[in-house]
Amino acid sequence: MTNKVLVIGEAKENRLRNVTFEAIAAAKVLDENAEVVGVLCGDTDLEACATEMVQYGADRVKVIYNEILKTYTSGAYAQALLPVIKDEAPTAILMGHTAIGKELTPKLASRLNVGLVSDVTELEKVGDQVVFTRPIYSGKAFERKVVIEGTAFATIRPNNIAPLERDEARSGEVSTINADINDLSVIVKEIINKTATGGDLSEARVVVAGGRGVKSKEGFDPLYELADVLGGVVGASRGACDADYCDYSLQIGQTGKVVTPDLYIACGISGAIQHLAGMSNSKVIVAINKDPEASIFNIADYGIVGDLFEIIPKLTEAFKELKVHS
Ligand code: FAD
Repeated sequence: MTNKVLVIGEAKENRLRNVTFEAIAAAKVLDENAEVVGVLCGDTDLEACATEMVQYGADRVKVIYNEILKTYTSGAYAQALLPVIKDEAPTAILMGHTAIGKELTPKLASRLNVGLVSDVTELEKVGDQVVFTRPIYSGKAFERKVVIEGTAFATIRPNNIAPLERDEARSGEVSTINADINDLSVIVKEIINKTATGGDLSEARVVVAGGRGVKSKEGFDPLYELADVLGGVVGASRGACDADYCDYSLQIGQTGKVVTPDLYIACGISGAIQHLAGMSNSKVIVAINKDPEASIFNIADYGIVGDLFEIIPKLTEAFKELKVHS
């Protein structure tokens, strides 16, 4: 019997999150011959997203519709997904380790009575087994886990597993299901967006983060300019959030968001262990700090000792120049 991997996709405003494609690629590492079944939840118009999942490697996709699925609640999504999961009886289930994935997957795992390996950063096939690697102790160590019995259920940390190349000629069945959802204990009536950060931190390729060294709300302006030129987003340390220089939705670290961009520029951040927990897996780390002894330099690939208010505008100008000449 062919193995079957179910990938729970996630769309925001009818755009799939990249981690959905990364989860499809991870499904192929689990078993390259497995049938990959995508599943999406929403209220309308997800067929284009479903087709995109096929183009990135899913063999077929089920779209579950109900008006209540327009807004995420774990109760409604669990009611929508559980019958599909039971019907498909997959050998493995994968989802992105996003805010929704973090909340939904433990609920699904407990209802299905299976274990959950969360926040996986790497998958590796060793013989017949798949080894899942995940960070522990705020990223100070990694553990490697093997699921020896039952359905392998895992969440994948964004930006760690390369998606497969898109093949627009690839075809696969897209089917729709009208879900029956009732007896919900929580219904979301309205969503009020607190801030617009200009992008999603957890999936950003470039993050320009500011700390207490930025000194004020206005001090963040040059960071936004640099992020803009680099096509990135702005983040912050808790020090900056506590000082009210920016909103807590920008906080990166143990009690904030975890980011794994290609480029992380830390500006006026000392490098406390709780901050490192959220960004130390970034591919290239640049630190700007006026204190040469700041511990952020211990993990930085490139360190610039100096005043961030002098250095950041120079970097922004240099990147603008590069853009003009490239
Ligand atoms: P500081 O430590 O004050 O560092 C400011 C830095 O700016 C200094 O290194 C200074 O040299 C430099 N600087 C000043 N002026 C300039 C200038 N003009 N140019 C260049 N450099 C300059 N922190 C997080 O970030 N995220 C978390 O999720 C988090 N969770 C926590 C959870 C717990 C339970 C606890 C106890 C703490 C947590 N913290 C977290 C807080 C953490 O311990 C640090 O206090 C915090 O990260 C410090 O922020 P900072 O680096 O911006 O500030």
